[in-house]
Amino acid sequence: MNSISVFCGSSTGANTVYREAARATGEALVRAGIRLVYGGGKVGLMGVLADAVLAAGGQITGVMPRALVERETAHHGIADLRIVESMHERKELMASLGDAFIALPGGPGTLEELFEQWTWSQLGIHAKPCGLLNVNGYFDPLVAMIGRMVSEQFLAPPLAAILAIETRPDKLLERFRAYRPPPRKWSSPGDATLQP
Ligand code: AMP
Repeated sequence: MNSISVFCGSSTGANTVYREAARATGEALVRAGIRLVYGGGKVGLMGVLADAVLAAGGQITGVMPRALVERETAHHGIADLRIVESMHERKELMASLGDAFIALPGGPGTLEELFEQWTWSQLGIHAKPCGLLNVNGYFDPLVAMIGRMVSEQFLAPPLAAILAIETRPDKLLERFRAYRPPPRKWSSPGDATLQP
């Protein structure tokens, strides 16, 4: 695992624990020798995460749409800042650069980015694992919703397992190292093994 794409809030949240978690995630990546790929911003948890990686001497690639750079939210301490033309281009590049995906607490942007990668992994567009850092119980309602997807048979357990849910970043990295992708959904028409 060389690089991980991290999605997180463009705000810092109501509690300092979220900032601490972003810092801890940055430090865990650097300790593991993993490059951070992220949205390239200086704002919110994104900025805290990038600052932590830089302070620990780690490597970063930022991927930012031109419109956001023009709104001056880019982090200027990043040597490798890739400027793309659209959010779709950004997500595609972040998907190809990361060997795994982590969502830290955040808002709709964070969830949208994570869910897209989880979906792509289910479909076999790539075979990379995803992780949710459940700090301060922030994602508890989402974790309950995912359980409901499984119990109501909208999500097969092996495909639910693409998404690791942990409270500590080093545990997420451990889960990623041990990850074996499930057979992709719809691998053979009529094969019911991955149906919920
Ligand atoms: P949100 O969780 O709604 O705050 O959105 C955060 C996610 O959307 C991040 O992972 C970024 O990829 C993207 N994003 C939203 N706002 C910005 C911004 N000002 N600069 C860079 N990326 C952003």
